[in-house]
Amino acid sequence: MSQLPSEPEFEQALAELTTSLGSFLKAHPGYQKALDTVQVPERVIQFRVVWEDDQGQAQVNRGFRVQYNSSLGPYKGGLRLHPSVNLSILKFLGFEQTFKNALTGLNMGGGKGGSDFDPKGKSDAEIRRFCVSFMTQLSKHIGQDIDVPAGDIGVGGREIGYLFGAYRKLRNEFAGILTGKGLHWGGSNIRPEATGYGLIYFVEHMIQKACPEYSLSKPSTLVAISGSGNVSQFTALKVIELGATVVSLSDSKGALIATTDAGFSKDIIESIGQLKLKGGFLESFTDFADGANYTYHPGQRPWKHLTKVHIVLPGATQNEVSAAEAEALVKSGVRIVAEGSNMGCTKEAIAVFEASREKGGAGVWYAPGKASNCGGVAVSGLEMAQNSQRLTWSPEEVDAKLKNIMTDCYHTCLSAGEKWSGEHNAGSDVLPSLLAGANVAGFIKVADAMKAQGDWW
Ligand code: NAP
Repeated sequence: MSQLPSEPEFEQALAELTTSLGSFLKAHPGYQKALDTVQVPERVIQFRVVWEDDQGQAQVNRGFRVQYNSSLGPYKGGLRLHPSVNLSILKFLGFEQTFKNALTGLNMGGGKGGSDFDPKGKSDAEIRRFCVSFMTQLSKHIGQDIDVPAGDIGVGGREIGYLFGAYRKLRNEFAGILTGKGLHWGGSNIRPEATGYGLIYFVEHMIQKACPEYSLSKPSTLVAISGSGNVSQFTALKVIELGATVVSLSDSKGALIATTDAGFSKDIIESIGQLKLKGGFLESFTDFADGANYTYHPGQRPWKHLTKVHIVLPGATQNEVSAAEAEALVKSGVRIVAEGSNMGCTKEAIAVFEASREKGGAGVWYAPGKASNCGGVAVSGLEMAQNSQRLTWSPEEVDAKLKNIMTDCYHTCLSAGEKWSGEHNAGSDVLPSLLAGANVAGFIKVADAMKAQGDWW
């Protein structure tokens, strides 16, 4: 028995990578040492965060930063504020982030952090006081060439502002120590949109190769999305802009399914964005004027409530598609599953999708988050580049760079998948595994940099 505490989410992410590396490690057994080494984070920082609530009472939370790997650049990865946050979740996220960042082609290491603080139901002043207290500790460990955090669940523009302001005052330094900043104080155009837009740019390549009959420019192409936060809102807006139909969204309390051919409109997505900014839930959406055009399923995710669907984009949190839900999606006709969230699918759900792909023909093609959602951190990397130059690039310039990065990432995963998904390519109409491709390509890049720098031999 291991003397280490059980870390289920981290163990799941490690098992996924290890399995994907199977045929690569068989051909190159020397890289086993890299796998043994890369799974141990370079540094784990844990600290106490005491903050004052609106009643003047002291509240205490746990703060974390996992500095996973710096062989490709400064640690880079978001901060998550959610009551479920623990070291297992942050280690899985930091581990995934390391390979995701490698797939962007930019010089960024991997990290992740956050707190079990629950921003829901907190006043603006409480969130500000929490952020100041959190940064009082975190500021000792980050820097523009050391570690550059960003947002994640529960951390948007408002929180980044409070955190950045706290750092500036504590250190008397205006530096690019966070990304996702406001546009007029060092932020990048397209950063809020980047994860959702990048996901769609990646998915466009998948559709073109696997099922061009389902173009995103056709209203008959049905796209199911889960979540309704940053990633899901901009995913939905891009789908609507291109012309396909968004048929679902969800949040931590339930799922909302469109009941008309029109699906979700741009206006509705924007209203949901406003609702979420105020900490609201989709359940109150039935009060909206056209609530009759949607059904609300309390306590449910969208997946079992879709009679017909072509593209599925999980965008809420980890493990949000079970095996039974994956089976239901296959029955509803899904062809592409690409994660906006990190580890959105359980390993059992991935097995269902991968088995469907291996049959060839009209199977399901699955893309893991470390490939399909890397657009967010990619534009964070571009924000760091702009900060170094003290310049702001236009939205068109950033969007074009994002598109190129997603295109390169897709081709990297595809060609590594062709090479390393082994028996999966046996049938001529069997698509290569993007899961294997993303994992092997990301791993080789990190492992080679570590070897060159003497981290393993
Ligand atoms: P967000 O704005 O905070 O939105 C999160 C969404 O997921 C909300 O709809 C939330 O519902 C729902 N959710 C959160 N925890 C949940 C749970 N335990 N069960 C069910 N639903 C839950 O966060 P985000 O930035 O969009 O991030 C969403 C996912 O994308 C995460 O997996 C994140 O790691 C990943 N990601 C984000 C970025 C980025 O740039 N932001 C980049 C790459 C990957 P409520 O509104 O009810 O809380």
